[in-house]
Amino acid sequence: VSSAPASVADEARAILARLGVPDSAFAPGGRPARSPITGEVIAHVRETTPDEAKAAIGRADAAFKAWRKIPAPRRGEFIRLLGEELRATKDDLGRLVTLEAGKIVSEGLGEVQEMIDICDFAVGLSRQLYGLTIATERADHRMMETWHPVGVCGVISAFNFPVAVWSWNAALALVCGDSVVWKPSEKTLLTALATHAIVERAAKRFGGVPEGLCEVILGGREIGEILVEDHRVPVLSATGSTAMGRQVGPKLAERFARAILELGGNNAAIVAPSADLDLALRGIAFAAMGTAGQRCTTLRRLFVHESVYDSLVPRLAKVYGSVKIGDPRETGTLVGPLIDQAAFDGMERALDEARAAGGKVHGGGRYTDVAGDGVYARPALVEMPGQTGPVTRETFAPILYVMRYSSFDEVIELHNAVGAGLSSSIFTLNMREAEAFISATGSDCGIANVNIGPSGAEIGGAFGGEKETGGGRESGSDSWKAYMRRATNTVNYGNTLPLAQGVKFDV
Ligand code: NAD
Repeated sequence: VSSAPASVADEARAILARLGVPDSAFAPGGRPARSPITGEVIAHVRETTPDEAKAAIGRADAAFKAWRKIPAPRRGEFIRLLGEELRATKDDLGRLVTLEAGKIVSEGLGEVQEMIDICDFAVGLSRQLYGLTIATERADHRMMETWHPVGVCGVISAFNFPVAVWSWNAALALVCGDSVVWKPSEKTLLTALATHAIVERAAKRFGGVPEGLCEVILGGREIGEILVEDHRVPVLSATGSTAMGRQVGPKLAERFARAILELGGNNAAIVAPSADLDLALRGIAFAAMGTAGQRCTTLRRLFVHESVYDSLVPRLAKVYGSVKIGDPRETGTLVGPLIDQAAFDGMERALDEARAAGGKVHGGGRYTDVAGDGVYARPALVEMPGQTGPVTRETFAPILYVMRYSSFDEVIELHNAVGAGLSSSIFTLNMREAEAFISATGSDCGIANVNIGPSGAEIGGAFGGEKETGGGRESGSDSWKAYMRRATNTVNYGNTLPLAQGVKFDV
């Protein structure tokens, strides 16, 4: 029996109204915002024109000049209020993430929880934007570093984390004293509008937020390009495919803007001979099939030691055969829809290539037992003879390629032999292997885990990856430094002028 309400569109529109998204955000000829659950059009969203986008950047630049003068702990108070507003609206916003991005209910709510968590982190951070004091070689001198706000921070985000990625960037950038202009994915405009309405609630309670501190510009890649090319945006965080990063990165480099690139992944896990196979099975299932394989950290390559391959892989195939696919609003559903038909076509192409390369496919294909016009796929487990064909690239769909290995050194080499370098994990109870995997000679990724899958990061750590993943870091640890500029200050409080390195220059 379905617990899902009849119309996705009606429910989404009710949430947008409750959150206070103004009617002016919508227009008859606007971009259709579709729900992947049923394919229904929820609303037509008015897109930002290029001139409006430039004006928004101008407002943000002016806002920055006022905001940087507000003491950081006071800026933190704004983020504290934002966290409160997110707590109060978590159910609505989380639900809207489900309706617009197709995530299951607990993942939609989890995404908003992540926003709340980063707000809490940023509030604490607002009193901890520390610089060092440094020993100087000159008598009666003091050397230190100070961190200053940098300017407008542009944020370009992807459809699969429609709101959390904005918050990872914005919460930090705002306590650091920057203003923020956000270009969300054109596939998730409604959650962006809803988030902006929640920001405005916090701004109203805070009082005195400069106009333009948080701007949202809506549209496709052309609108994103405006943000990339505008010299008033000194730091830009762009999350999306490696193909997008290849376009954005050089343009930012050309104007010497700071780039925080969070691009595609082709994440792997290793199941070693000593692994706890029950635990590995659960970890693999969540990492590979969660969010219908549409996380940047989704597990896509699985290396299983030959001694445990025959005990693990048939069990895994069984889980693939029985996982509940369907309407993500329904209790018990674990795999919701793909974002659109193009995602399904990409999955089919990859599976054809895998078959041609000698792969044995379990599952895969269209799942049609759901009402409406959503695009649902059966997750696919593909036993591959080696790391060939589509295995070396990211296909943004629920496909897990499984390969056998025999020696640890060999598997580390295979693990690192792809372009992306986002996330990775090993399942082992052998501490030598575990430590080697996370050592300098082990995984080459930005995230390397032991006995958990590669997906599902917490906000406390720095998030991001190496190589074709772009090298950016955001969220926890010292990622905040990317949103500030560092000044090294040397102060002479004596009455002589000793020069560094003993240089003499007597005039
Ligand atoms: P996408 O690359 O199609 O689009 C991402 C965003 O970039 C969108 O807002 C889009 O409008 C914009 N964009 C595209 N080309 C642009 C250009 N030339 N100039 C300016 N803006 C441009 O990605 P998607 O399909 O929305 O998301 C899926 C991809 O994102 C996957 O590859 C996934 O791995 C990646 N991703 C990475 C992370 C991470 O943190 N590393 C997180 C989430 C998603």
